[in-house]
Order: sequence, then C-alpha cells, then structure tokens
Amino acid sequence: MTHQDMSNNVLEFLQATSIDQVHSYFSDHTAALNNRYSGPGKLPGKCHVCRTNSVFTFGADADQVNWRESLVCAGCGLINRWRSCFHLFEQICSPDKNSSVCITEAITPLYKLIHGRYPKTRGSEFNSRSKPGDFFPHSDQLIQMQDVTALTYENAAFETVLSFDVLAHVADYQRALSEFHRVLKPNGKVLISVPFTFQQETEVRAIAQSDGAIKHLMTPQYHGDPLSAGGVLCFQVFGMDLLAQMALAGFEDSYLGCYSTETWGYLGANILFVGRKPGT
Ligand SMILES: [Zn+2]
Repeated sequence: MTHQDMSNNVLEFLQATSIDQVHSYFSDHTAALNNRYSGPGKLPGKCHVCRTNSVFTFGADADQVNWRESLVCAGCGLINRWRSCFHLFEQICSPDKNSSVCITEAITPLYKLIHGRYPKTRGSEFNSRSKPGDFFPHSDQLIQMQDVTALTYENAAFETVLSFDVLAHVADYQRALSEFHRVLKPNGKVLISVPFTFQQETEVRAIAQSDGAIKHLMTPQYHGDPLSAGGVLCFQVFGMDLLAQMALAGFEDSYLGCYSTETWGYLGANILFVGRKPGT
C-alpha cells in the first residue's frame, strides 16, 4: 500500500432538498456504476480513514450486495457506511481535537475511530435494563445508557450530534430530533443516517400506542443490533419528509446528502441527512 496525494480529500456529494433531485442524481450515477461490478470482488480506491490507497472487498454477487454495509477496507477493516459517514462528518463539521461530539453508539468500530481522533466524543447505547445516564458493563468497558428521546446531557453541550442507523428503531423519532436540537450548541450540526425509501413519504411499519404496546402496520422487520440477539424492530423507513420533521424540530438549511463514487469505495445509493441548529 502506498501513500499518495490525499490533498484532494473532498467527497463530492449532492445537497438534495427534493425527492426529484435524489432520483435524478442516483439514476445518473448509481445504476451505471454498480453494473460494472459482478461479485464477489475487490474495488481499488482511496480510503479516507487510512489516508492511503486501499482495496475494498465485497462478498456476494453484485446484484445482491448491500453496498452500504459492504466494501470492507483492507487497511482499517471498515465498511462503506462507516467510512463514508466519518468522511462526511470531517468534511461537513471540520472538527478539531477539542470538538464536543455526541454519537448514538459506543461499542462499534466507528465509535472507536471517532473517539480516538476526537477525544471529547461522548458515545452511548440504548439498553432497556438501565436508566438513562447510568453506565452498564459490556465486554471489558462501561457503556453509558442513553435514550435518544430523553437525553441526560445539558442543553447546548455539543458542536455535533451523529446518529447513524438508530432513528428507524425509535417510535417517537420526532422527540429524538428535538433532543438532538436541544443538546446542540447554536450553529451545531446533526448528521443522521437512516434506511431510506427513496420516496417522499416515510413508510411507517409499526407504532407505539399510548399504553406502550406496539401495533404492527406491516410485517415486523428486525435489524441487527450488537446488544440484542434478536435484533431491534424497525418502526419506520424514512422518506424525504424527514427534512420537514427536522424543520419542525428547529433545524435550518437541512438537506439530504447523496453520494456514490468509486474513488473512495462508496458504491451504491448512499444518503445522509444533515441539519444545522440556528445561531443566536
Ligand atoms: Zn481504510
């Protein structure tokens, strides 16, 4: 592996505010790109995490590859979603060593990466057996429990909130958006990745009723979770209307970042919601 010129470290992405922009971006970029690959295989490219050339491995036939959860870097071992969310975090938020970062995960390789480079990062995991703010043991460390609908952090505690693939599992995700807004400093940014419908409307698969019981509107879908063997229920797959919910929570200039590129090993139709808390 050779060091190369990484001075052009920029990931080109579209800041989409309408579903039509999303559709035209991905119909131009993604279909043609992905059709070039039939797997299993390896894609050479640049790794933003390793800051060198690398090779990204994908396992199944290209037709069936979940590109977002694949393309493992030979250097850092991280998949497309983790590498690209980290890349966009650094590019959009320009953090430094003193940046205060809130991230809604604490036992993942992505958390270790971000905490390692930005030591004032606070990570957490949800755990129904613990109280918000309490610590619970996991492997050889203590992990803080946080409920994203009732964070125990003070107001305006963070410059950045990162929430990757968590809100699909939160019935009252609007409350979580309000909490993200509350704990951000003025001009702080929130970066949110979610499963996406590629449509305007959010697909509501289940709701929590007032007595706490879950009502399924569609066949229950469970996603992998490092802390629960059976996985966690997907309450909704988000549509473009998440931007309107972010506006209701108080965020400004929100957009859906769309990206798909061979250069960095981010094949597939990748998206990331970004919003800003207004300044004072
Ligand atoms: Zn890497």
